[in-house]
Amino acid sequence: MRNPRYDILFESVKIGPVTAPNRFYQVPHCTGMGYRRPRTLAALRRIKAEGGWGVINTEYCSIDASSDDEPFPHASIWDEGDVAALGLMTEAVHEYGALAGCELWHGGAGSANLFSREVPLGVTSSPAGVLDPIQTRAMDKADIRDLRRNHRDAACRARSAGFDIIYIYACHGYLLHQFLHPSNRRSDEYGGSPENRVRLVRELLEDTLEAVGDSCAVAIRFSVGSLVGGGRPANDDPRTMIELLADLPDLWDITVDEYSHEMGTSRFIKEAALEESMRWVKQVTGKPLVSVGRLTSPDTMVRLIKNGVIDLVGAARPSIADPFLPRKIDQGREDEIRECIGCNICYTGDQQHVPIRCTQNPTIGEEWRRGWHPEQIPEKESDSHILIVGSGPAGLEAATALGQRGYRVTLAEAGLELGGRISREARLPGLAEWSRVRDWRLGQIERLSNVEYFLDSCLDAKQIREFAADRVALASGSEWRRNGVGRWHQEAIPGWQKENVFTPDELLDGAIPPGPITIFDDDHYYLAGVLAEKLVRDGLDVRLVTPAPEISAWTQHTSEQETIQAHLLQIGVELETATTLLAIEEGGVRLACVHSGRERERSAQSVVLVTSREPRDALFHELCNEMKIDRIGDCLAPGAIAHAVYAGHRYAREMDAPPQKGVPFRREPALAAEVD
Ligand code: ADP
Ligand code: SF4
Repeated sequence: MRNPRYDILFESVKIGPVTAPNRFYQVPHCTGMGYRRPRTLAALRRIKAEGGWGVINTEYCSIDASSDDEPFPHASIWDEGDVAALGLMTEAVHEYGALAGCELWHGGAGSANLFSREVPLGVTSSPAGVLDPIQTRAMDKADIRDLRRNHRDAACRARSAGFDIIYIYACHGYLLHQFLHPSNRRSDEYGGSPENRVRLVRELLEDTLEAVGDSCAVAIRFSVGSLVGGGRPANDDPRTMIELLADLPDLWDITVDEYSHEMGTSRFIKEAALEESMRWVKQVTGKPLVSVGRLTSPDTMVRLIKNGVIDLVGAARPSIADPFLPRKIDQGREDEIRECIGCNICYTGDQQHVPIRCTQNPTIGEEWRRGWHPEQIPEKESDSHILIVGSGPAGLEAATALGQRGYRVTLAEAGLELGGRISREARLPGLAEWSRVRDWRLGQIERLSNVEYFLDSCLDAKQIREFAADRVALASGSEWRRNGVGRWHQEAIPGWQKENVFTPDELLDGAIPPGPITIFDDDHYYLAGVLAEKLVRDGLDVRLVTPAPEISAWTQHTSEQETIQAHLLQIGVELETATTLLAIEEGGVRLACVHSGRERERSAQSVVLVTSREPRDALFHELCNEMKIDRIGDCLAPGAIAHAVYAGHRYAREMDAPPQKGVPFRREPALAAEVD
């Protein structure tokens, strides 16, 4: 039974000529699928509709071949093939009574047209793409006329694909945002004053309303400006522009300039972070307004609506981590929401040009190719009793999913708390929300009478034998290497045996090394940077050294690298990039430039090596010839928490399944036009 406090979330909202069945609105978000994988995509969006989202949008959808964003997997609506492919999505979404929205997109200088090889278009001639050695050509009046016609045609195709909401995408640095920006000093009527800069957006709104506005809602995605000093310059007056357009669109989808704020990681940005910067917008327009803020708490959603900040609860990540979030609230099961942890692993799929993945939801992206459903899992196929050794993300997820299948499960944990690395790392600065990975699973396990767990139970081979389970899953994790072997060093770093050399595990266990400290990061994800912050908070002088050209380089994919580097500089960590650690010596370290080999000495009382990990798999090698034992997660292949959750889930899904032959999942045909 739904808590009446949340009734407001289930009110319908009229958006122009269409009506959203409730206030849950999945804003446009990348999936790493785009036009290349229409069936995979339709299945993912279908699950969201089934889970109760009232509006489901595409990712950015290119209007024509004058703008592509390859190699990033965007959507496209260039021709009838695309119409048929996107029709799979609208059909799937409509099956559950939700509305489907299409975010029409033109990248302008944001895309170098690597695929189409068309000359990129821009407000003026300016550098295009991501450091690509090509500039745009300045759009003349004929180009603007063409753009308007092509945008209008794309809107018509979107309507024939079955979309109910059509977007004018005027933010995130793409073409229309470039026109709106103060740097647009064109001397014609499309540049200079706010009235002129907003002209093209107004024309596109009017064109779209005229072309499809009788049956489709026309939405605008718009930025209220820049939130950070030192970022891109803000629009000089977004308020003036919103006032100029006010009630023209049917819906305002409001955001800010920086992705790093809009979809910031929980390490830096908390729930409802855009509230302050956009609370004025509803005073300026009478039309419904949607915005995001990693909203997972129904109470926060209700507050934002009641306070007149938003009308629709925008969500990308909360809908990825739990596609059934609305339905759970509707059924009075809000304590079962699998809350997003704000790690942005979901964004790495798009950034690395592969289908989406999620730390919390191992089924996302697997709906079509493996037939996985986030809320349904096949019943057990035997009465096997399964012993899981280790309760990190792999062990916990395996125990949860096996338990949901109905298997009898015993989970043994050596430590005094469940969670493995999650419990340890969530205590580090900024990572508290990561404990949701443990807590959601624990909440599920508590409901399952067939799953039992034991703490303080470090099992050895003899005990595992005596337990006589039908199957054993070893989820015992990994240990950080002490000798510095990793990507850069294939051999141990000279001096690694010294007493003043520490591993991340020792720091996580509470060791505080004497300062000044040099951290050597050859892991390139978040941990070295977070440990540096922790040690600064402990009052120590910290130097962070990495062979990569920037700090925590892989976090480019999670959209937080620049924030991390700026933050570490702000708190006083000394950063040395493109530098390797040659040797650990008495009272110091010997470093070298990775390009020139030029060496330099730095004083250090202690050294922390964050390089690579050793799987904790001794028990497997001891027992593998005498019982059915499998390694899952870090004890097989150390990786991110998302890898471990996925491994645990897959182990549970494949329990008692026949061995797979050939490609273990379905693949899409290459041609979108071939969609049947
Ligand atoms: P993963 O990321 O693969 O899930 P973690 O390192 O997070 O791995 O978790 C592994 C967990 O396994 C830790 O909590 C550790 O205490 C536990 N563990 C390791 N060896 C044993 C063992 N022999 N018996 C019980 N628990 C173990
Ligand atoms: Fe949230 Fe992380 Fe999942 Fe993205 S990957 S939806 S940030 S939990």
